[in-house]
Amino acid sequence: MLELEEALARILAVIPPPVPERIPLCDAHRRILGENIHAPIDLPAFDNSSVDGYAVRAADVATATAAAPVRLKIVGRVAAGDTFNGELVSGASVRLFTGSPLSRGADAIVMQEDTRLEPSRPDEVLVLEPVKPWENVRFRGEDVKRDAALMNSGEALTVGAIALLAGLGMTHATVGRQPTVGLMATGSELKEAGESLGPGQIYESNRAAIGALVEASGAAPRMFPIVTDDLAVTRAALERGFSECDAVITCGGVSVGEMDFVKSAFEQLGGSLSFWRVAIKPGKPFVFGQLRSKLLFGLPGNPISALVTYLLMVRPALLRWQGASDLSMPIQRGVLVEPLNNPGARRHFVRVRIDSAGEVRSAGVQASHILSSISAANGLIDVPPKTLFAAGETVSVLRLD
Ligand code: AMP
Ligand code: MG
Repeated sequence: MLELEEALARILAVIPPPVPERIPLCDAHRRILGENIHAPIDLPAFDNSSVDGYAVRAADVATATAAAPVRLKIVGRVAAGDTFNGELVSGASVRLFTGSPLSRGADAIVMQEDTRLEPSRPDEVLVLEPVKPWENVRFRGEDVKRDAALMNSGEALTVGAIALLAGLGMTHATVGRQPTVGLMATGSELKEAGESLGPGQIYESNRAAIGALVEASGAAPRMFPIVTDDLAVTRAALERGFSECDAVITCGGVSVGEMDFVKSAFEQLGGSLSFWRVAIKPGKPFVFGQLRSKLLFGLPGNPISALVTYLLMVRPALLRWQGASDLSMPIQRGVLVEPLNNPGARRHFVRVRIDSAGEVRSAGVQASHILSSISAANGLIDVPPKTLFAAGETVSVLRLD
């Protein structure tokens, strides 16, 4: 039986280098950068106001109080997007709004709330409070300096990263091409949701769940029809899958039973196969194969086994395919409020729920066919063989969401 790290290393060793493509930023969420990003401009690009108010010289209003306001002449009005071409001299002010460029000659902005207007003298403002030099000024380049190194190839484009790049005026990013991943469920007992169940039949649930995970890995899932337990049917399904996709994920049909056809069908197509029993629970049987440059991931059929083996071995592979440097799952530290015991000989990835206070408890029954506990879970804990994690222990939760 292979250790998880060994299985993963063998998979990652044959992942081809990423293929760069240029895509619009608005489509780039979760995609993996294929270029280093430097700032093309200063951000902000010019000194500007953080408030609605009046540009002034701070020294002019140093004595201002509500009882003894300082009266300034309003010599201009600059809406956001406008500019003021003159130079502000002592005794003058310019009406500004949030984002308006700071007037030349001014060194602070008095908030509108600290001023008063008199209807009889519309071209003057009464300042009721002093300001410090540079108060309420947003400086050119204070956020990002032109040419600063911002992101590296291999990083994922988060919502925040997209906001930054868009703010710098970038419309596109170079990212690793997204693999199209075929999803196939094998099993003559499986029915499509929406159909009625006959005796001995169950609803197929893995394609929907694994498809959501594939999407969260930045890849593009493609659903294929249910594959019955038959060698020729399995071979035809795989042939079609590999002609349309960069990788195929199958669920089920990879155990040792005589009704398990994925391995032999794949080999008949010319695929070269690694079949491992990986020392994890749930999960054990796992198939990895290569057909030319394309990849087969054969997951066990039990829904939780499929999900856990996907997260531990397929997710990193799909991320690496896109050029990602960080392949780890997001981790949150928490404190167990009940013991977690793994008396077995394999690492157990236990479904847990971590709450907003960081308290961690089991999400329910842990058998590999139990769906209610995966639905209740928001994380997994990797419990080593023959290990008891006691209540009160701090643990690392691999986040599922
Ligand atoms: P297998 O790996 O094909 O031996 O399947 C193991 C168990 O998982 C069996 O109880 C199957 O009925 C069940 N199973 C297999 N594939 C799926 C699926 N796509 N959705 C739900 N259950 C499945
Ligand atoms: Mg089966």
